[in-house]
Amino acid sequence: MKIAILSRNHNLYSTKRLVEAAQAFGHTAEVIDTMRCYMNITSSRPTIHYKGAKLDSYDAVIPRIGASVTFYGAAVVRQLEMMNVFCVNDSVAITRARDKLRSLQLLSKKGIGLPTTGFAHSIDEIQDLIKMVGGPPLIIKFLEGTQGVGVVLVDTSKAARSVIEAFLGLKVNILVQEYIKEASGADIRCLVVGGKVVAAMMRQAKSEEFRSNLHRGGIATSIEITDEERAMAIRAAHIIGLNVAGVDIVRSNRGPLIIEVNASPGLEGIEKATGKDVAGSIINFIEQNID
Ligand code: ADP
Ligand code: MG
Repeated sequence: MKIAILSRNHNLYSTKRLVEAAQAFGHTAEVIDTMRCYMNITSSRPTIHYKGAKLDSYDAVIPRIGASVTFYGAAVVRQLEMMNVFCVNDSVAITRARDKLRSLQLLSKKGIGLPTTGFAHSIDEIQDLIKMVGGPPLIIKFLEGTQGVGVVLVDTSKAARSVIEAFLGLKVNILVQEYIKEASGADIRCLVVGGKVVAAMMRQAKSEEFRSNLHRGGIATSIEITDEERAMAIRAAHIIGLNVAGVDIVRSNRGPLIIEVNASPGLEGIEKATGKDVAGSIINFIEQNID
C-alpha cells in the first residue's frame, strides 16, 4: 500500500514513527507537508497539487493536523475525501475535536461524564456563570487551546470575574469549568485506534502545576485503566467520529470525566511510557479498513 502522512515536519517523533511502522508492515510511506498542498476544485475532477505537480494517488492518508493549521489542514483532508482517498480521521471529526465547546456539547448529549461547564457571550452573565459551575476554584479555558496553553485555574470569584472579563473583552472564546481538585494534577490519556484502547498512560503534573500536559512538564507512566474508563474512551472517540483519538480522562469523586478528545495525539509520550507500538496499531487499522 501507498500511505501518506500529512504533517508539517518529517522530523517529528510521531511522523517518523508512522513512516517506520508503515515500512515495517511492507508499505511505502511519504510525508506530505499539509501547508504546501494546494487544491483544484474543478467539478468531478478534484485534485491536490504539491510542490509543482499533481499529488500521487495514495491508498490511505494519516492526517496529523496541528492546532494552528486546523482550517487549512481540514480543507486538505476534505479534498482527499472528495478524491475517495481513505483518511484515517475525516475532516469533519478533526474540526469537531478541535473545538472544545462543540465536542463537549456532543458528549453531553450522549450522557458522557464531564466536568460542569459553562459558556457565555455577555459580561453581564459572568456572576451567574461562575455560580453555575459551582463557584471557585474554577478553570477558564480557550475553546481552541492546546498543550495546556490557555487553561487557567482561578481561586476566587474576584479573580474569575476579572479573568473572564479580560478574555471576553479580547474577543477570545472561553469555557468556564468546574475544577476537579481530587484529580490532583493527574489525568489519563487513552489512545483509541479503531474502537480499541491500544495504550493508556497516566500523566502527572509537576508540583505547583495543575495541568498534566507533557509539554507543561507532566510525567507519563503506564497505567491499567478500569473497564468503565476504557468503555468511556472508546465511546467518546466514537461520538466525535474519530478512528484515532487521544481521549483525556480525569478521575473524580463521581467517577471518570472526559476533559477532551484530541484528533492528532502525540505518539512519543505514550509509546515511551507504555512500550506499545501505537504507530503500528494505526497502520494495522488502515490494513483492516481498506479493501
Ligand atoms: P489542552 O487542550 O490545552 O491540553 P485541556 O482541556 O486538555 O487543554 O487541559 C489541560 C490540562 O489541564 C488537562 O490535561 C488537565 O490536567 C488539566 N485540566 C483541564 N481541565 C481541568 C478541570 N476541569 N479540572 C482539573 N484539571 C483540569
Ligand atoms: Mg489536553
